[in-house]
Formats: sequence, C-alpha cells, structure tokens
Amino acid sequence: MKQQLDPNGRQLQAGLLTRTLKGVINVSLAAFLSATLFTALPATGIGLKSPFLQSGQRNRESFDSETLGGTLRVGLVVGHWGNDVGAICPDSLGGYREVDLNYTIADLTRQYLQVEGVEVILLKEFDEHLKGFQGDALISIHADTCEYIPDLGTGYKIAEAVDNKRPEQAARLMACIKNRYGNISGLRYDHRITPDMTSYHAFGEVDPNTPAVIIETGYMNQDRELLTKNPSLVAKGITAGIMCYLNREEISPE
Ligand SMILES: [Zn+2]
Repeated sequence: MKQQLDPNGRQLQAGLLTRTLKGVINVSLAAFLSATLFTALPATGIGLKSPFLQSGQRNRESFDSETLGGTLRVGLVVGHWGNDVGAICPDSLGGYREVDLNYTIADLTRQYLQVEGVEVILLKEFDEHLKGFQGDALISIHADTCEYIPDLGTGYKIAEAVDNKRPEQAARLMACIKNRYGNISGLRYDHRITPDMTSYHAFGEVDPNTPAVIIETGYMNQDRELLTKNPSLVAKGITAGIMCYLNREEISPE
C-alpha cells in the first residue's frame, strides 16, 4: 500500500479511516464468529480471509479509487497540444497535423470513458497538472510520422514508464492497451520503440504511483485512412484497453 506517500495526506486519511473501519469490522466479525461458531465448527476453515469477508470488495485495479470514494480517474495527454503541431502531412496527403488527430482521438476517448463512469482529464503536452498527477492511469496519445517508410511505416507502438513504483500495474496497463487496441484497430504492433517513448517527459512528472503509458496510434502516412477517417475506432481501441486495465479483464496471450 502507498498511502503514506501522498503529499497532501488525503489518501493517508482515507487509508487510515478504511483500515480503522476494517479493523473494527474484522474484530466484530471475529468476535461474532468466535462466539457463535467456535464450538460448532472445527478449528480450521474460518479465517479472516473467508470469502464471506471478501465478497464486498470491488474487482477494480486501483486501491486509490476505492479509498477516495470509488471514482476512477484517468489522464489523457493530447500529444503536442499547447506546444507544437507534431508530425505534418504534405498538402498532397491532406495536410494533416498530428496535434489535430491526437486531439480528436483523445476527446473521443474521453467521451467513451465518461460513459463508463470514468473521470477524465485532458492534458496538454507540457501541462502544469502533469506534475505529481495522481490517477488510476495516464495515457499520452500521439501518432507517428507522415513520411513514407516502405514496409515498416505502419502499426502502433506503446511504451510504459519503467521507473514507476507500481511496475506490475504499468505493465498490465500496457499489455491491456496493446491487446485491445491491436484487436480493435486491426493494426500490427510495431516493436521499434524509440528512446523518445521510453524516456517520455511525462513519465518523470506524474506521481510515481500513477501507471503511465504513451501510445503511437499509427503512422500518418500508411495508416492515415484509419487515423483521419475513423478516429472513433481508434478511440474505442484505446478505451477498451483502459477499461481492460481498470476492470482487471483477462488478456489473451499474444
Ligand atoms: Zn507526437
């Protein structure tokens, strides 16, 4: 558990309250069980890990959200927003600007996640709120170059924050998005992850307990049709990946 690391103390208080309540409940239940069942049952089989005591727990990934009242919170960085335009396609290829594609995709993802009851914060590339950002996940949305790259200029990439304090969560967030996004977009996974991605600036800014990933949704040249004509499918792929993580869904092996 990580509550003590919270600088503003909200989680510490919530965590203490939860633990205190759980302690009271556990003690009461233990007393109740001892009083009523001790003589009736053999010594084994009734412990505090009984399913009876676990049944009220939600099957969600995040401990933070439970202690903070149940609302899941996700940050979406709109790649390049507020800073530059990112990759650009020549006029002959539609003149698309990466920042515009990223915004459309991120905003649709925000809408889909909100339908699922998730609180979403759209963030600029160098948003002041990135510093110490606390949430159930942070996803930065980018798209790859519009240059024509024979054979290899198609597919999506994902990288995770490696020095995250919850490496299992970060790895699972990445695996979920990789799996769901690939299935829904139909794009192949591009393994050529660049240092730009692994050392992405926001990874060092968010709270180290917030799992963070960056996705390159596709190449603006060969995957342009998908990115520009069907951004809702792109957003659905990202949304499904995030919900897979938040709901601890099964990920089928690749
Ligand atoms: Zn970019």
